[in-house]
This record gives sequence, structure tokens and C-alpha cells, in this order.
Amino acid sequence: MIILVFLILHWYLSLFCQSFFHHRYAAHRMFDMSKTWEKVFFIVSYLLQGSSYLSPYAYAILHRMHHAHTDTEHDPHSPTYQKNIFALMMRTIRIYSSIYRRQADVESRFMKGIPRWDSFEKIAHSRGSKAVWMAIYVAFYLAFATHWWMYLLLPIHFMMGAVHGVIINWFAHKYGYRNYELADTSKNLFPIDILMLGEGFHNNHHKHSSSPNFGVKWFEFDPIYPVIRLFNKLGIIQMKKVPA
Ligand SMILES: [Zn+2]
Ligand SMILES: [Zn+2]
Repeated sequence: MIILVFLILHWYLSLFCQSFFHHRYAAHRMFDMSKTWEKVFFIVSYLLQGSSYLSPYAYAILHRMHHAHTDTEHDPHSPTYQKNIFALMMRTIRIYSSIYRRQADVESRFMKGIPRWDSFEKIAHSRGSKAVWMAIYVAFYLAFATHWWMYLLLPIHFMMGAVHGVIINWFAHKYGYRNYELADTSKNLFPIDILMLGEGFHNNHHKHSSSPNFGVKWFEFDPIYPVIRLFNKLGIIQMKKVPA
């Protein structure tokens, strides 16, 4: 039971950071925040994503490339070009790493307005940090796992960010329904998206890529959108245009 709660908490808290901070803020700038709050969310993301901490800089560039080149040969991840999940994951990791190491040739339009904290990421993104987080997860399982099979869940903790990424990048470009007929293969994974906190409304997102609310139909509830509105009310962020 404790293990299950731990897995669910890790799943949703790290997904919240990836969706709120990396995707909606760093990549799409759907709202503004001060440099101080940026630093707070860098630290919060690091603590909650742990061994799979994503650099908002590398994530944002990779993701902007995806929107600009969706389902073409220049798309960093497209099931139209990569034949299986493994190939898609490997290509995504390779391009992400080359962007992170500043080795990729990145168009200047993809680099504008991305939050950066390079000195922090030297530690947060290091192999040593990843190893420490993995040791913490293993120690937690050693303390609380009650069946051997529970240890099979550990790789999910180790690669949480990549697991979330592949669910959208692979499945939400293959399976689901469409509200909009676009030139790309984007789909809405589920009509009610609790699993991915609204990220599953991927066809809606490809159509309205600057909207902070991923739900469009009345039944499409995006759980992160009310949080964004709450943060806006509390002065943590500033929404660009507050709907009535
Ligand atoms: Zn997409
Ligand atoms: Zn996006």
C-alpha cells in the first residue's frame, strides 16, 4: 500500500512539474512568472522529478522543434518516422542530450525566452545526482515493499520523465479521437484524462498551442488549468489573458 501511494505521488507530482513548468511555461510561455518563482519551480521540479529531472532549456527547445516540424523527418519524435516506442525514445533522448550539452545546431527562434539556471543544472542534471535519487528510491522500496514483484516498478521511478514523455509522444500521436482535423497525427488520448493531467488532450493542444487550458469540449477537464488560475490569483504567475 505504501509503495502504491509512493508510485502514485511520484507519478503525479513529477508530471505536474513537467506539464506546468516545462511544457506550459518554458516551452510555450502560456503565462509569466518572476525570476524568483522560476528558481522555486526549478528546485521543486528537481525534488519531484528526482533521477529523471528534465532541463527546462533542453525540454523547451526539443518541444518547440516538435511543434514546428510535427510528423516530418525533422520532428524529434514521431511515430510516423520511428517504427517502435524504443526507437522513438532513443531518438528523443539523443536529441535532448545533444541540446542539453549545447552540441546541437539549434535555430535561434527555438531559443527565445527559455528559463535557464545553468549552475543549478550542473548538479541537478549530473550523473551523481541521478544515482543518489535512484538509491533513495531503492532504499524506500527496501523499507516498504511487501512483495518481490513490487521491485519491478522501480524502473518507472528511475525514468519517470521519459515514461510520461513517451505516453504523449507515441500514444497521443497514434491512438484516440480528434476534435480537429490537422495536418499532423495528434490525438486526444482519452475523453477524461486523469492519467496524464490533461496532457492527453494532445490534438486540442496542437490546434491551440498557446492556450493554457487543454480541454475544449465540456467533458474535457484539464486538471492543471484550475491550478494555473489559482496561481494567477495568488500572484505566483501572471496569465497573459484571463478569461471571464
Ligand atoms: Zn505532438
Ligand atoms: Zn506543446
